Order: sequence, then structure tokens, then C-alpha cells
Amino acid sequence: MNNTILKNYINGQWINSHSEKLIQVNNPATTRPLAKVPLGSDKDVELAAKAAAAAAKAWRDIPATRRIQYLFKMKQILEAHTDEIAEICTNESGKTFAESKAEMTRAIENIEVACGIPLLLQSEFSEDIATGVDEFMIRQPIGVGACIAPFNFPIMITFWFLPYALACGNTYIVKPSEKVPGTMTRMFELFEELNLPPGVLNMVHGGKETVDAILDHPEIKAISFVGSSGIAKYVYQRGTANGKRVQAQGGAKNPIVVMPDADLETTVKIIADSAFGCAGQRCLAASLVILVGDAKKKFTTKLIEAAKAKKCGYGMDSAADIGPVISIESRRRIKKLIELGIEEGDSLLLDGRTVSVKGFEDGHFVAPTIFDNIKKGGVVHTTEIFGPVLGLMPVETLDDAIELVNQSAYGNSACIFTNSGAAARKFRHEAMAGNIGVNIGVAAPMAFFPFSGWKESFFGDLHAQSRHAVEFYTQTKVVVERWADEWTRKF
Ligand code: NAD
Repeated sequence: MNNTILKNYINGQWINSHSEKLIQVNNPATTRPLAKVPLGSDKDVELAAKAAAAAAKAWRDIPATRRIQYLFKMKQILEAHTDEIAEICTNESGKTFAESKAEMTRAIENIEVACGIPLLLQSEFSEDIATGVDEFMIRQPIGVGACIAPFNFPIMITFWFLPYALACGNTYIVKPSEKVPGTMTRMFELFEELNLPPGVLNMVHGGKETVDAILDHPEIKAISFVGSSGIAKYVYQRGTANGKRVQAQGGAKNPIVVMPDADLETTVKIIADSAFGCAGQRCLAASLVILVGDAKKKFTTKLIEAAKAKKCGYGMDSAADIGPVISIESRRRIKKLIELGIEEGDSLLLDGRTVSVKGFEDGHFVAPTIFDNIKKGGVVHTTEIFGPVLGLMPVETLDDAIELVNQSAYGNSACIFTNSGAAARKFRHEAMAGNIGVNIGVAAPMAFFPFSGWKESFFGDLHAQSRHAVEFYTQTKVVVERWADEWTRKF
């Protein structure tokens, strides 16, 4: 990439944004400029929505078995360009090359599941609900859909929605995060090879103004949002007030409960990967570890050792375990929250604020940071820090731990580490979070399960991925049917 101004992709053409306001996008490790992205405008959205609406009728009339041929090809394109796209993602988002490649795998898995749409669209049929009368349900597309994505998964998150929306017969608009717009731009360049009918798949760059225009545009009927909770709630409220379907996934503060009987080595390794991988900028990252009974004695020192062993570095350097956070503002915010934790009396066991990476001294690095005995209700306990910062909380019993988990405003995920089936079952049953891990550190559902956030982590009814995405991107039509011949049927 160079420092050019990124274009929108609308109706099969690359066109300039109507907005003259630009945001500079830099590599967070090297701070070198990568691209300039337009802030976007309602005119851009208008063009994209019009193109998508104009393409909708012909697209939905193509049989699903033929629509998915485009998705098979999309999968092949992504497979053939995995390393190239992953490198762009690493340079733009800061995450390691391995983490970017893992995103590609997840994106491709969703395309694979959406390729099963002829089966997923099958529905219910009741014969003879009255003499000679049948009733059945069919699923039809909504029309035009849109996805508004966050910065932390520049590749994967769009594919929680896009493949299903297209497979179901909708046309689509993607709004990437303005912090990482180049990755999706390259993917769209590659998608030109698909030869999709113009208007079926569009991309509009921008920030708040673009989002607001999407939320208000009458042609856009369904919106999938992923980002922080405050914006998710706003998007949900404004979108639904305009009569649209909205699924809005928000932020998180994910607890891991460690029982004294959990396996020491694997538990520590998995927790360190969960808390510090992707520099803690993952909506399923562990940010609280609740140590039950004797677990505190057994696990604390080992967790610090595992955290210290994590190397910060440029994501394309294979020795790096943790890349930089997304921006200098983000690093400032994380440091500020660490300071607040100290002021509130939390004990800082490991301080990652002053890390410097040789050759990348200007990069926005934060090394693993661990607090012990964090204050209940304090900033480290309740705020989504979105950096490699872990808070430890000792409790007496599993019941105490579950109570803490359930007091959280968020409900994206909750995990337990134990060797006891009974403890695990109780936790699974009682923990109030949508994604549960048992001896798993990042409880990310595969593409054939919904990504089930709860509470402030999700606004809406149907989640991302799998059958939920199919239901979200279709509307049901129920037909009650009688044929003239059968009126005279004799029995
Ligand atoms: P963000 O909320 O700042 O931005 C997300 C999207 O909203 C972007 O496309 C952005 O352009 C747009 N946006 C930003 N401000 C807006 C405003 N005032 N009005 C309208 N639109 C606005 O989130 P982010 O910093 O890009 O991503 C990190 C957040 O996303 C974290 O909170 C993380 O937990 C969350 N996240 C959640 C999930 C999940 O599945 N629940 C997955 C990934 C990330």
C-alpha cells in the first residue's frame, strides 16, 4: 500500500468519495503512512444504496444454487491470497501475521457455511391443514443489507454477515472501520474477479457521518454492526427507530474463573494467550481472572511468568507474540486506565507501560500488565480497557465467582478452568454470558454456531454467523394454499 486516497466501490466501479475530509492511516508498529481514507458522506451512502437497491430484484431471482457459485469462487480467491491479505492486515492493524491468518481462516469458514444456503433456506411444510389445503413457509431476502465493522478484526467480522446476506439473495454494502480501511479495499479489488452483477456488493468508507447515513437510508433494510457498546446501542436504537432490522454486537469484559483443581501449565498458557493475544484488542479477550480458593497461591506467580515471556514486536516478525495497539490515542487511553487502577489502590504486579521495541521505538506498544486484588466496581474491574491488561480477583467459592461474573454489565463470554465436571456444568448452567468456555480461553464460536453475546455486549435478537445470520437476512412468508381441483375431492 502507499499513501493514496482510498476509493469507494459502488455499482462495480471504483469512485471517489464525495467527502473531502480525510483521515491518515498509519502502520501502528512503524508509524509509516499507509493510506488516506475519506470520512464519508450521505451522498456516498445514497449512491451505494441506490445501486444495491437497483441490483436487488435480479439478484434475488438468481437461484440460490447459482448464487453460491460466486461464494465458492470468493473462498478460492481468499485462499489463494491469504498471505497477501494477512500481511496488509498486520501492517494496518498491528496484529501478528499468525493472528491475521487466523482471521482469514475464520472468514473462509463463514463463506463455507453460507455455501450450504440451499439447505439452510429449506423450510416448513404442512399438508392438509384443512381438507385439500396446505400451508408452508418460505424465506425471502430483505433487500439491501449493510455491515458496519470495527477495527480489531479488519478481515473476519464482515464475513460473519456478508456471505449469508448474499447467499440469501440480498445485495450488500460494507462500511469498514476507518482505522483499517485498506485490508477490505484490497479484498474488494480481488473480488472484482468474481464478476458479480454491478451493485450486488458495494463498499463505502467513512466514520460517523457514513454510519448515520446508513442508519437513515430508507433503501437499507438490515444492518449488522460490531463495535463498542455505546455505539452499538446508538446504532440499534436509531436503526430500529427507522424501522430496520439491526443486530449490534458491543464491547466486553470477559472473566475467566480458575478453580484450584485446574491444570497449572495449560491453564496459565491459555489464559496468557487469551489476555495478551491481539494485544488484548479482542472482544473475547480475558480481562479478569477470578481465582477460587487456593488457586490464587498456585496460579498468580505462573501467570506473571507467562505474561513476562510474551514478546512485543512488529507483527511481521515471527518472534513477536504481541503487536502494537491500534493508535497512539489508544495507547494513551490504556495507560490512563492503568494509572486510574493504581490510584484506586489495585496492586500492579506487572507494568507494561514503558516497553520499547528495538527498531520500532515509535510503535504503539503496550506490554502485558497485571493487577492483583482489583477493586470491585473499580476501573480495572468494570471498564473494557481493550489492551493487554489483566485484573486478578481472589474469591472463596465457585458461587462467589459466578456471582461476580453475573454482576458484569457485559455478557460476551465467560470461561472456567477446572478438572471437575460438576463445577464446569454448574458454571455453564449459571453464568450469564452468551459464549461459554470450559478449559478454553477464547470461546469463539465456529461459523456454524451463532456468536452469542448477551447484555451490553449485544443489542438485537439474532446474532452473527450460521442460522442466525440466515434468519436475520431473510423474512418469512407463510403461504396457505388450495387448488381448484381439490375443492371437489371426494373422500
Ligand atoms: P467503535 O465502536 O469505535 O467503531 C465501530 C464502528 O462504528 C466503526 O465502523 C466506526 O466507524 C463506527 N463509529 C465510531 N464512532 C461512531 C459514532 N459516534 N457514531 C456512529 N458510528 C460510529 O469500535 P472499534 O474501536 O472500532 O472496535 C472495538 C470495539 O468493538 C470494542 O469495544 C470491542 O469489544 C468491540 N467488538 C465487539 C465484538 C463482538 O462480537 N461483540 C467483536 C469485535 C469487536
